[in-house]
Amino acid sequence: DHRKIGKDMKLFMFEDVAPGFPFFLPNGMIVRNSLLDYWRDLHRENGYQEIVTPLIMNRSLWETSGHWDHYKDNMYTTVIDDEDFCIKPMNCPGSVLTYANEPHSYRELPMRLAELGTVHRHELKGTLHGLFRVRSFTQDDAHIFMRRDQIAEEIARVVNLIDTVYSKFGFEYFLELSTRPEDSMGSDEDWEAATNGLKNALESLNLPYTINEGDGAFYGPKIDFHLRDCLGRTWQCGTIQLDFQMPINFDLTYVDENDERPRPIMIHRVCFGSIERFIGILTEHFAGRFPVWLAPMQAKVLQVSQKSAEYAEKVYQMLKDAKIRVELDNRNEKIGYMIRQAQYTERVPYMIIIGEKEVETGTVSVRTRDSKTVSMTAEEFVEKITAEIRERV
Ligand SMILES: [Zn+2]
Repeated sequence: DHRKIGKDMKLFMFEDVAPGFPFFLPNGMIVRNSLLDYWRDLHRENGYQEIVTPLIMNRSLWETSGHWDHYKDNMYTTVIDDEDFCIKPMNCPGSVLTYANEPHSYRELPMRLAELGTVHRHELKGTLHGLFRVRSFTQDDAHIFMRRDQIAEEIARVVNLIDTVYSKFGFEYFLELSTRPEDSMGSDEDWEAATNGLKNALESLNLPYTINEGDGAFYGPKIDFHLRDCLGRTWQCGTIQLDFQMPINFDLTYVDENDERPRPIMIHRVCFGSIERFIGILTEHFAGRFPVWLAPMQAKVLQVSQKSAEYAEKVYQMLKDAKIRVELDNRNEKIGYMIRQAQYTERVPYMIIIGEKEVETGTVSVRTRDSKTVSMTAEEFVEKITAEIRERV
């Protein structure tokens, strides 16, 4: 259970005064930021540009976007200068305004605007559950503005990107195509074109999928990625939505090769979905035994007795200098107790045990979480762990 592991490892917490609004503790922030560093590297390589848009915007914007009509029950509102404002439940309108900030030529498309956007959505109190169902979360969102002839290629790119992310963690997944819901906006023709656009992309990639009738977003159909964790449970995380509506509502255009002004098509997509929920899933998937690049503490030096104090301190400093997240346990405790705490509560990938034998031979004993111990020099260990962190294995 990620709530128990989260407590053991001091990753996150909840308070009664903020039901469904998680607090991230220092260790949880390390996991989160390591995940986001990976996400940023990957998105930069794939031609995305990052933006941030406001959390609170005027109600009139949400009327234009259609959220006020179709999503009001899930939105929190506030009043500023006697006017109604909404706390964003989705990042789309902010991205749209960013796109519309200046004119665009067909040559600039596709334009991929990524946003780690924190959204708030009202969920009933009884449905809240750890990090799995919260009222405030950060989406690893992106909105892609493109020409009609770019749909298939761009969807294929997004599918590949999401595949890369899930493979990284050893998740398998299956795809579902969700079609037009009852409460939706737009013409039948646009819905059909968008749905066929997604179908054609999946078929040209030779990817099997099932159809989930009527479960699309109110502005367009979507492909859902359901990932399977090591316990065999499935989670809907990634989505790719194809949207012809929002560009109409906001009157978006670009300048084409004939100097005309057609509308771009939009993709809304997430890989992790909610960062909070994805961290909850990863926590359970790995049972808290995060890969070394994500682990809050990557190595812990355990000093067997006072006789090895000086050498333990030296090894600890060496790891610290190599920018390893390392701690030193030099308490006057039995080594068995120190190992149990590091291995089973803190779930540290590497325990570096320093006793008299290690002092004599100038080596370190490296113990892993599956209780295997190998002897090597401190330099060899630094090289090994640094490579693992760099490669994110
Ligand atoms: Zn969106």
